[in-house]
Amino acid sequence: MIVGVDVGGTNVDVVCYDGNFKHVATYRTKDVVENLNDLLKRIARDLKAEKIGIGFAGWIRKGRILKAPNVKVSISFDLPVPFRVENDANCFALYSSHELGFENLMGITVGTGVGSGVVVEGKIYRGRGLAGEIGHWFVGGDRKCTCGGRGHLEAYFGGWSFESRGMNPRELVESGKIYDLKDFETFCLCVANAVTLLDVECVAFGGRIGGALSEEVLKERIGRYLMPEFDTEVRVIKDPLAVAKGACLAVME
Ligand SMILES: [Zn+2]
Repeated sequence: MIVGVDVGGTNVDVVCYDGNFKHVATYRTKDVVENLNDLLKRIARDLKAEKIGIGFAGWIRKGRILKAPNVKVSISFDLPVPFRVENDANCFALYSSHELGFENLMGITVGTGVGSGVVVEGKIYRGRGLAGEIGHWFVGGDRKCTCGGRGHLEAYFGGWSFESRGMNPRELVESGKIYDLKDFETFCLCVANAVTLLDVECVAFGGRIGGALSEEVLKERIGRYLMPEFDTEVRVIKDPLAVAKGACLAVME
């Protein structure tokens, strides 16, 4: 039995995998974050886990969390079974690749911030660890980003950015007003640039905001910035457990 965990800013989701995925539990992050390691130890014992994959919204290099601007907790893990801590967007990309059947895929999560992960030939491409952080691309201006930089995509597009400017992310998406924002245009331009760099077969969107966007609108708006030869598929994954499931797959890689 493989256990996958998604440690997000709001919730901690746990799934297990033995050929099929099963939802085990969801906790409020604030309720469990202090004792997360003990909780995972207990889950590992109860489920007789062989391995644990942990998806985490942070910058990870060589298994070490360098920075987690949107989770606001510092965590280190000490577990009785082999485990891997993996960037949450990488987990999302890997799950999307398996689920959709594309070996070369970019996964983009838009929730509190903007995360992205790259799968090449069916495996996560990490570079030295931080590959695919399009949320921290410089897009102009000087709005402060949670990473400490300025003018990054995430400072203009995503949950914390919208909220900091008095906009309700859910309402923006449900009303469709999000598509009228200049920031949506900037987001699509960044995605198109990434597609040009990687020539992936598919871009999959997920997360609280990304998973609620329209495939048709995304495809059309991203396509405005692409040469016609880039016939990249655009898919939206609505599964809220995609990161936890991807964490299972990542620890089996
Ligand atoms: Zn940044």
